[in-house]
Amino acid sequence: MRFETKVVHAGLRTDPAGAVAPPIHLSTTFERDPASEPIGADTYIRESNPTQTQLEDALAPLEGGEAALAFASGMAAGVTAIQSLPPGSHVILPDDAYYTYRTAFDDFFSRWGFEASVTDMADPANVRAALRPKTKLIWMETPSNPLLKIVDIAAICALARKAGATTMLDNTWATPALQRPLDLGADIALHSTTKYFGGHSDVMGGALIFKKKDSVYEACRHTRHVMGSVPSPFNSWLVMRGIRTLACRMRAHSDNGMAVAAGLEGNPALSQIHYPGLKSDPGYAVAKKQMSGFGGMMSIRVKGGRDAAMKVVSRVKLFTRATSLGGTESLIEHRASSEGPSSKTPQDLLRLSIGLEHPDDLLADLKQALAG
Ligand SMILES: *Cc1c(COP(=O)(O)O)cnc(C)c1O
Repeated sequence: MRFETKVVHAGLRTDPAGAVAPPIHLSTTFERDPASEPIGADTYIRESNPTQTQLEDALAPLEGGEAALAFASGMAAGVTAIQSLPPGSHVILPDDAYYTYRTAFDDFFSRWGFEASVTDMADPANVRAALRPKTKLIWMETPSNPLLKIVDIAAICALARKAGATTMLDNTWATPALQRPLDLGADIALHSTTKYFGGHSDVMGGALIFKKKDSVYEACRHTRHVMGSVPSPFNSWLVMRGIRTLACRMRAHSDNGMAVAAGLEGNPALSQIHYPGLKSDPGYAVAKKQMSGFGGMMSIRVKGGRDAAMKVVSRVKLFTRATSLGGTESLIEHRASSEGPSSKTPQDLLRLSIGLEHPDDLLADLKQALAG
C-alpha cells in the first residue's frame, strides 16, 4: 500500500457495533473470566488499553516498523528510550537536538550515570570521532530544531551498525510522509505526536516506532509499563484521527513552506533563511536525497539582531505568536526567548511553523512585518 492509503487505513478494524469511526475505551480496568484469565488483551490501563493499542497499530506501518509504543508526550517517548539503556551507557547527541532533550541530559541523565557527547552531525566524521566502546545510542534529529541542520541518515546508521550502537531519529518535523528513517537504516523513529501527527494544536502525545520487535522494544515497553508515561485514551484517539489526514496535510505544509521560503529569499530585512528546500541551503543536497518534501518548518534571521527580530514578531497580523508547530494555523516565535536564558539559539532567529493558509496571505503578512 502507498503511504496515502496507509494513513487512512492503518490500525482500522471492524467494530462489533459496526461503527466506522473507532470508539474510545475509557475503562481503566478489564474483566477476567471465572478462571481469572483476562477476557481481552488488556488488564490495566497503565499497561495497555484498546484505544492506545489501536493507535500503535496505526503508527507502526507508517514508518515501516514492526511495532510502536505510544506515550503521553514526545519528551516521555525520548526519555523512555534513554531510561531503557544499560547503566553507564554513552549516547551521542546532535548539537542542535530539541532543547528539552538537551536539558534532560544536563539536569538528569548525566547525574544518573549516562554520558553524552554532543556533536555537529552535519559531518558524519564528527560522529565517528565521538564513538566509544560504551556507545549504545546515536540520537539524530533532521531537519533539526531550530537551525534545520540536515544529517545524512544512511551514513550515520552505517557507522552505528559497525559500532554496534542503536540509532534513533527524531522524525517529528519531517514525519514519515516526507522521510522514512527506518528504511534508511535507523532502528527507532521518535515522534512528538503533539505536532504534525495530531495536526490541530489540540493534543499532546509521543511515539517510538521500532524497525524490529526486538529486545530494545521490549525494554522500552517495560520502562513505560513501570514508569507510567502513557497517553490517555482520548489523546490516543485524537492522534489516531490526525493520522488520517497526515499525507495530504504534509503535502500542503511542504508546498506552503517552499512558497514562503522562496518568496522571502533576497528580502533586504533578512540575513539568512534556514530551509532545506532552498538550493542555497547547506543541507539541500542531503535533504533532497532523503526527503520527498521539505515540510513547513523554517527559521529566518533578521538583520539588526534581537531588537529587530522582536519588532518583526510584534507586527505580524495573520501569524499567531506562539511556540510549537504542526497545526493548521501558522505560528511565529522568537525561539531563544521560548528556550530561556541558557538557550544557544541565535537572538536574531525567528522560527516559523507554516500552516495550511494560502501562502500568498502568509507572505504578505511576513513582508509587511519585515518592512516595518
Ligand atoms: C515538540 C518536540 C519534541 C517534544 O515533544 P512534546 O510532545 O512537547 O513533549 C521533541 N522533538 C521535537 C523535534 C519537537 O518539535
